[in-house]
Amino acid sequence: MAFKQASRRDTWAEVRLDCIKYNIRMTLQQFHSDVSLMAMVKADGYGHGAVETAKAAIEAGAEFLGVALLDEALELRDEGIEAPILVLGRTNPEDALIAAQKDIRLTAFQKEWLEEAESYIKGTARLNVHIKVDTGMGRFGMAEEEEIEEFMGVLRHCCSLHPEGLYTHFATADSKKTEFFERQYSCFLDNIRLVKDHIGEVEYIHCGNSAASLRFPERCFNMVRIGISMYGLPPSKEIIDDIPFTLQPAFSLHSRIVQIKEVPQGQNIGYGQAYITTEKEWIATIPIGYADGWYRQHASKGAEVLVDGVRVPIVGRICMDQLMVRLPEYRPVGTKVTMVGSQNQETISAVEVAERLDTIPYEIPCMISKRVPRIYVS
Ligand SMILES: *Cc1c(COP(=O)(O)O)cnc(C)c1O
Repeated sequence: MAFKQASRRDTWAEVRLDCIKYNIRMTLQQFHSDVSLMAMVKADGYGHGAVETAKAAIEAGAEFLGVALLDEALELRDEGIEAPILVLGRTNPEDALIAAQKDIRLTAFQKEWLEEAESYIKGTARLNVHIKVDTGMGRFGMAEEEEIEEFMGVLRHCCSLHPEGLYTHFATADSKKTEFFERQYSCFLDNIRLVKDHIGEVEYIHCGNSAASLRFPERCFNMVRIGISMYGLPPSKEIIDDIPFTLQPAFSLHSRIVQIKEVPQGQNIGYGQAYITTEKEWIATIPIGYADGWYRQHASKGAEVLVDGVRVPIVGRICMDQLMVRLPEYRPVGTKVTMVGSQNQETISAVEVAERLDTIPYEIPCMISKRVPRIYVS
């Protein structure tokens, strides 16, 4: 079954919800049943669409959803999603009340924040907070023992705030070298002890992103926060062999030939005379460009696309709304073109595309703009 948001364009991203469900079920199989899975759907579900992927994730067994921003959490609530949601970024304390009212958990790591959040709620609701400690990522969280002590002292007097969780984030879980990971992990153990000295047991303790969860499941306490692997992409190339099952990529990107012509030798193709035909060539125009997030670098880095299962080159510069490709032979208008994904036996993976652009697979679905409709297949 496929359904499509209203669009009349010939370019689309296909999102296979069955793959997302498979990746989540296989991940859950690596853990005892008392470990909860938080499906990370920040950044519009890593470009896949937050609402649809969140629903699929919940169906497959995810109990929590994770986002970066309160706005993202509120959007999920507006769409009728009732699962617990944690905001992993910093939320302004002014918004603590709306979060509490909508049953959205917030991340807390500043004692002043606790006092302010408390003053906005004043016992009218209960806000679940997850305490964030910085064990080496250097981004969010409390790093010093004294800081944690003071924070816990303030928290004790905030009757509207309930410490439901405690977590940290790894900086190098996707690296073959595990020394820094080990250091962060042991620092986290110290932090857990310290926090428990103040408030006893904490319901959820979590540290595992995709890489840590797949490689070190025994170090993940009772919750994992799965992002990239739920979408079927590896956190990094070097740990692909450590992943205990074959990830199924959910995202692919397609378009169609909208014009084809046989062009004589010596003809300019596109802006700036960047490509001149060297012989009589079949040139097709494809309606995807840099305004769709298919950046000009693809052409300068020698990108290929698939047409009828064959790799063909992009020629000339990528325009805002179109690009041109050179075909070995005539193909009719309407022929499917794949930028990311498979045709017949041939595949251009997001990993390949990421390497082409000197980046990580995470960026590939994220960079495809909202102008490209997502079509869901389940
Ligand atoms: C994005 C994010 C995750 C998920 O990371 P993946 O590598 O995509 O699994 C987990 N935790 C935090 C704090 C994050 O920001």
